[in-house]
Amino acid sequence: MRILITGGAGFIGSHLCEFYLKQGHEILCVDNFITGQKENIIHLLSNAKFRLIETDISEPIEVSGRLDAILHFASPASPKDFAKYPIQIIRANGFGTYHLLELARKKQAVFLLASTSEVYGDPLVHPQKEDYRGNVNPIGLRAVYDESKRFAETLTITFQREYGVAVRIARIFNTYGPRMRTDDGRVIPNLILNALQGKPLPIYGDGKQTRSFCYIDDLINGIAKLLTTDISEPINLGNPDEFTILELANLIIELTKGKRELKFLILPQDDPKRRKPDISKAKQILNWEPKVSLKQGLKLTIDWFKKQIKD
Ligand code: NAD
Ligand code: UDP
Repeated sequence: MRILITGGAGFIGSHLCEFYLKQGHEILCVDNFITGQKENIIHLLSNAKFRLIETDISEPIEVSGRLDAILHFASPASPKDFAKYPIQIIRANGFGTYHLLELARKKQAVFLLASTSEVYGDPLVHPQKEDYRGNVNPIGLRAVYDESKRFAETLTITFQREYGVAVRIARIFNTYGPRMRTDDGRVIPNLILNALQGKPLPIYGDGKQTRSFCYIDDLINGIAKLLTTDISEPINLGNPDEFTILELANLIIELTKGKRELKFLILPQDDPKRRKPDISKAKQILNWEPKVSLKQGLKLTIDWFKKQIKD
């Protein structure tokens, strides 16, 4: 296949590029490096089947030759970036999704959208199933991300209904692993970094809020399976093992042999209190479920962060 991956120099995107190259496919990696890093793809640049296109996908994009699939992963994704890049996020998920759907239509390519558990907002239903419509504050600080992803889903399903474009929508829950930026701001990199530096771990609020963390390799397998189906409705992809942030912090302290000290800070606006995917649809349709436990995944991630700090 000839696959275009937007956000290919980011955390998830770079793992996708690597995965599909290993399978012998040709990859066009599109990125403007707003939150991505050259180091994530540097080892792929010499591969004849890999091409980097440095451009902003919020603008229309022309690609010569055939395309079999477009995987749209370009968007800043950390809550820290919601405040830093609000307009860029709206543009990437609004204009970007629209232009890429037009490209998929023209090339008769399959289009896969990286959607998110944030479409459920601060959920009133637990665990979250795909038919739950969510609880999002449309004018809150997270809205630039949550609402633009919801709109991206609407665009995607509408191109399928109106033009028959083959689409897939992955609702991705918190995913972690090597290649997350050290200054990314998301909870796992932040806690690991502080623990490795012997600093107190920052906990927002009382730390009793929950998340369910999926290791990157599991997510990539789920995305690959989803791409090969013909399911156009959204599918949750995530690990259903739920932890409080305090439990996560204690596990990271144990694995890094870090300082047993926490620093409690203000909880950001609209921070979801609980999050856990119901993955029965993915299990049934994709025959997929995560295999890597939080402890195993954290060990691999901590090893990687140790190397980053040393270099
Ligand atoms: P990331 O910030 O590491 O990757 C995003 C990439 O997109 C970066 O390389 C960035 O430079 C690029 N990008 C952003 N805007 C662009 C634009 N306008 N033009 C070209 N490139 C652009 O984040 P990530 O965690 O890898 O997330 C990737 C995708 O997966 C995002 O769409 C995100 O919403 C989605 N997602 C991630 C998670 C998660 O837990 N990591 C959860 C749900 C959804
Ligand atoms: N969080 C925290 N300390 C940090 C970063 C985040 O306690 O250094 C909390 C945050 O308030 C949220 C959870 O950890 O409740 C997950 O945050 P993250 O930014 O990773 O992603 P989210 O799931 O909120 O999008």
